Amino acid sequence: MKSKKCLVCDKVFVGRADKKYCSDQCRNVYNNKLNSTLYKEIRKTNRRLRTNREILSKYFRLGMDSVSLFSLISDGFVLTYFTNLYKDSEGSEVYFCYDLGYKFAENETIIILDKKVFEKQLVGELP
Ligand SMILES: [Zn+2]
Repeated sequence: MKSKKCLVCDKVFVGRADKKYCSDQCRNVYNNKLNSTLYKEIRKTNRRLRTNREILSKYFRLGMDSVSLFSLISDGFVLTYFTNLYKDSEGSEVYFCYDLGYKFAENETIIILDKKVFEKQLVGELP
């Protein structure tokens, strides 16, 4: 047993070497704070993915299977957020946000793909 300082309230206490908090209350305070930070990050990522999917869906619903990169970005699309990455039969990378995906074509055009349709022509998922 040795004297230690609580990570939450700074109170000095005596306890096992692996004990970090003076009480259950302080342990709970610490864990809740840790979780709320973690969940905040997860929610932020989920929100971006959902927004990306909604933007793709907006154009897809309008019957468009291609859209300018500029339009997507203007709508708030964030290219670095996607759920899956595949390669199509031509070797192009296809990024999915859940059930809708996209790939880059010429002249900054984005081609939107339905996952169910794409998977029928799938070559293989990238590691
Ligand atoms: Zn404490």
